[in-house]
Amino acid sequence: MNERIKKFIGANIGQVLLVFLAFLTMVFVSYFYVSRIVFQQMRSIGEETMNTMQATVTGSLIGSELMFANVMQSVETMLKENQSNEEILDYLIATNTYFSENHSAISGFLSVYAYIRDEFLDGSLWVPPEDYYAPSRPWHIGAVKNRDSVYISEPYLDADTGGICITFSQQVFDVYGQSAGIVAIDIDITMITDFINVQTIANDGYGVLLDDQMCFSTHRDIDIIGLNINDVGGEYSILEQMISDGEEISAIRFLNADGVDSIAFFRTIFNGWHIGIIVPHSSYYEQVYVMGAVLSIVGFGLMLVLSYILVRTRAQKIRSDEESMSKSDFLARMSHEMRTPMNAIIGITEIAKNTSEIDKTKNCLVKIENAANHLLGVINDVLDMSKIEAGKFELSVTDFMFSDMLEQVVSVVIINMDKKDQHFTVDVDANIPQAIIADKQRLAQVITNITSNANKFTPEGGSIKLTVRKENETENGCLLRIEVWDNGIGISKEQQLRLFQPFEQADGSTSRKYGGTGLGLAISKKIINLMDGDIWIESELGKGTRFIFTAFVGIGCMEQISATDNQEENFEGLFKGKRIILAEDVEINREIVLALLEPTLLEIDCAINGAEALRMFREAPPGKYNMIFMDLQMPEMDGHEATRQIRASGLPNAQEIPIVAMTANVFREDVEQCIKSGMNAHIGKPLDINEVLNLLKKYLMT
Ligand code: ADP
Repeated sequence: MNERIKKFIGANIGQVLLVFLAFLTMVFVSYFYVSRIVFQQMRSIGEETMNTMQATVTGSLIGSELMFANVMQSVETMLKENQSNEEILDYLIATNTYFSENHSAISGFLSVYAYIRDEFLDGSLWVPPEDYYAPSRPWHIGAVKNRDSVYISEPYLDADTGGICITFSQQVFDVYGQSAGIVAIDIDITMITDFINVQTIANDGYGVLLDDQMCFSTHRDIDIIGLNINDVGGEYSILEQMISDGEEISAIRFLNADGVDSIAFFRTIFNGWHIGIIVPHSSYYEQVYVMGAVLSIVGFGLMLVLSYILVRTRAQKIRSDEESMSKSDFLARMSHEMRTPMNAIIGITEIAKNTSEIDKTKNCLVKIENAANHLLGVINDVLDMSKIEAGKFELSVTDFMFSDMLEQVVSVVIINMDKKDQHFTVDVDANIPQAIIADKQRLAQVITNITSNANKFTPEGGSIKLTVRKENETENGCLLRIEVWDNGIGISKEQQLRLFQPFEQADGSTSRKYGGTGLGLAISKKIINLMDGDIWIESELGKGTRFIFTAFVGIGCMEQISATDNQEENFEGLFKGKRIILAEDVEINREIVLALLEPTLLEIDCAINGAEALRMFREAPPGKYNMIFMDLQMPEMDGHEATRQIRASGLPNAQEIPIVAMTANVFREDVEQCIKSGMNAHIGKPLDINEVLNLLKKYLMT
């Protein structure tokens, strides 16, 4: 794995784990507390449902019991008044009719009957079969057994209606306190059992009713109705035990008859029956599960978000640390890169000063020139980089001969190749158009940079190959593919990733060994991108490197080139009779211009600031000066102000005289500023003598 990624993971894993643990704890703690609340809430919902159930069932049964008590007391009164069985039967028939018509819908009243003085009297006029013997019926036996309290039968299925019924029965006594018989009424309790059936507190739950013998009177599974709680399977026996012990069952877990993990609530009501609610465990805890899932998802989501933020912040910090480290590295390297040639310039100048031998002096001057050019290269790189960072890097496109440009590049780099005894080959596709349109200087800069790197990072005696191919051609131009291959030290995969970033060198030790600022490739990439091309690298550590880049160039025009290229001209005495002002505060710069232009016989009057230049222009007779070279930064009055005042002076020629900025301020906005101040052109320092001559020619010869 990539070292950087490893390092990054190493730096973050601890924090991410911590966040993970914190959230895990949070999820568990809140799950624990909230689930307890949910349990309690479920339990109290269960209890409340049980209360309602108990109240409804009890209310309904007591209603029926009151109805029964009413009938029973009436019969007893009639007995005490010595009324006959016929009279009692009439009463029972009337009561039966009345209750059937008025109460059966609410109370489930079915019929009223009695066994009085050994005669069966039925209010519903039911005629019992021959063998019907009332004293052997359960209602009779129960009532006799209960003596003077009401007997409530176990629920049973009514043969006629198919409904679940119960019978209330009780003994009645005559005026002498002797038992005269039994009065009974049948009540259909289907309404109660239906009500119990649908009682639940969660999905798939159901209510049940057990009679005093612990047999199911109500169960949603009709096969279970009538069975004893101990005979239905599951873990009902646990419940039976608790009910028998008089314990209240509230949210007790057990397996029901179908083996489903369930929760039960049970309660014994006034008449010894037991009502209950049974809910599958999964439904009962559904809310808790849902809450657990929601908590986990939210917790996990939050954890991811926080980890992401942490990792990002961390990554940004690492990146900015790295950036500031490579910037300070860069400053150290820059200082080294600038001091080395400066050291050469100063040292060799000293040597030159102390020698009188002309050859030695010349040799020194060549070395000084080389060191100065190197220094200029470094400065240009820094300038380019700052232009790129400010988003002001632009190309300036011209027509030129591709082969000329390449030759110039090769002629420069080959010197160093020879010094290292390297085998350098150049292979150019014959199909490449002779004249192309592109930024000649910048294209040359990229090729030079990459080829010089190949030279720098390839040991003595190594090989370097420069190949140029034409990829595809369109109406507007063609794509050049340029490759520089070497069998030098190579670049590791990890280093390759950072290579095109500014201030980066493949390896920090590079600068110590090979020098360089680490800006070349970043600038090259920018140039290539502006040329609609791409740059990439194939390299293996210790084996060599292949830099490949493409650049889209226009197809140029040969005539255009011959017109501009024909510069090999003799400038000697060219500007004889012309006179210019050179406004420049630095003496050495004035000296350079004077010396460089001496052969042209141009007459140059020097001003040491803008104010002096303005005065000289004002005081001169009209037409004395043909042009002004104007430095920008000068004491007293700068070049901009001087130009503005000259242009505004109203003197003859004040508008026409060409004023050319000659300055080390070389950014595009500097040039724009010059034009705004009224200057005609701009020329950058250090001066390129050809550029100066061309400008003079342009303004003095036409
Ligand atoms: P520098 O001015 O340091 O050469 P560059 O941006 O041109 O800056 O190159 C950046 C780094 O890329 C170099 O310092 C070097 O480590 C690596 N590099 C570039 N070209 C090669 C090559 N041909 N072989 C090996 N390393 C190279």
